[in-house]
Amino acid sequence: MFRKILIANRGEIALRVQRACREMGIASVAVHSTADADAMHVRLADESVCIGPPAARDSYLNMPAILSAAAITGADAIHPGYGFLSENASFAEIVEAHGIAFIGPSPAHITMMGDKIAAKDAMKRLGVPLVPGSDGALTSLAAAAEVAAEIGYPVLIKAAAGGGGRGMKVAHTADELAEAWQVARTEAKAAFGNDSVYMEKYLDRPRHIEMQILADNYGDVVHFGERDCSLQRRHQKLLEEAGSPALTSSQRTELGETVTRALRQLGYRNAGTLEFLYQDGQFAFIEMNTRLQVEHPVSEMVCDVDLVREQIRIAAGQPLGYDQSAVRFRGHAIEIRITAEDPETFIPNPGLISLYHPPGGLGVRVDSALYAGYRVPPYYDSMIAKLIVHAPDRAQAIARMRRAIDEFAIIGVKTTLPLHRRILDDPTFQSGDYTIHWLERFVAKGA
Ligand code: ADP
Repeated sequence: MFRKILIANRGEIALRVQRACREMGIASVAVHSTADADAMHVRLADESVCIGPPAARDSYLNMPAILSAAAITGADAIHPGYGFLSENASFAEIVEAHGIAFIGPSPAHITMMGDKIAAKDAMKRLGVPLVPGSDGALTSLAAAAEVAAEIGYPVLIKAAAGGGGRGMKVAHTADELAEAWQVARTEAKAAFGNDSVYMEKYLDRPRHIEMQILADNYGDVVHFGERDCSLQRRHQKLLEEAGSPALTSSQRTELGETVTRALRQLGYRNAGTLEFLYQDGQFAFIEMNTRLQVEHPVSEMVCDVDLVREQIRIAAGQPLGYDQSAVRFRGHAIEIRITAEDPETFIPNPGLISLYHPPGGLGVRVDSALYAGYRVPPYYDSMIAKLIVHAPDRAQAIARMRRAIDEFAIIGVKTTLPLHRRILDDPTFQSGDYTIHWLERFVAKGA
């Protein structure tokens, strides 16, 4: 087992990894920018190293500084968390070339899944169903028009290197295609330095359903069921649930079998998530994330598993040691992402937290690096806390979440807590019958 793990991240996820390390008797090294010198992930770590100025490209994305921090502190493994360098294959490769273990999949699999065209191609070969669309990258507007005519409008132009909902444009009719093509490519080039795009049929009422898996180095792959992440704004998740209100347990088993079979054939290792759109009883793969996800806690709660601990054990070469039959699904879990933003305009609102009181009680979990007196810096993602509840069924989970939101006091910055309270109160949300397009309309309607 590792003796010391460097956590190449900040905020709640750095703390999350640190907690797993501590319980496993592994020392942790925090890295931080000058803006984060007082951050909780630094305060609670066994050691910390400043790796640069506030801008992420000079600190949390600064590979030489992170590698030096690992060398100086004698860390024998690096956990990348999510975001930042977590899906950077060169980083994984360089880390391993320095004799340090990368807690994640192989660089080859990170590269493959980072290119969504290659990912879809691989999944198709492995027998995983896809959203209908172009066979690979689109080389011209004329080629795009041809594919669109074939699959039928509306269509979606998507960036091969896409992430965070960027580089994605809908064309409802042939008239809109030229513009969507242009905008998607320009956005993709600006965001990812790569203007390669492909096309998918734009589904009008899908749910976003994803499968969490773990794979060890010896060919064993298990799944931890699905998460429903259909509550999205601008293709970004706001609230996630396990399990999906739309799925039966036999559908879960079936999808789980498809996914684990594919990843076993691929020789994948460590944690991963396959994302699907689900409409009219059909699953269609859209992408795979080769890292821990923000919403991993809902799966942890229903499966009673510590996914970070498992990631660390796998990276250290331990076998999973259990099979699918050992994974049980118990009750229902909901997570909300709380951001320091205006709940109506979504304009970021960093600043000083003057009072902080997290909720508690049975089935309530708060993953956050906040404390009273902390100043939320303006340089990074505006998510400041995740509130997770677990209960015997969905109705009780909703009641518990409403109660927990009411107890939660974060004073000093505007947060999205009031929006979440409004969502939880809504009869459509409570019915469980909604699609990925529902929240956008709900937000537009206002309070
Ligand atoms: P990113 O990597 O930018 O997050 P994804 O491919 O994961 O992009 O898609 C993000 C979200 O965009 C999905 O969860 C879904 O809400 C929406 N989306 C993606 N593809 C389609 C599609 N073909 N039809 C309708 N919505 C889609």
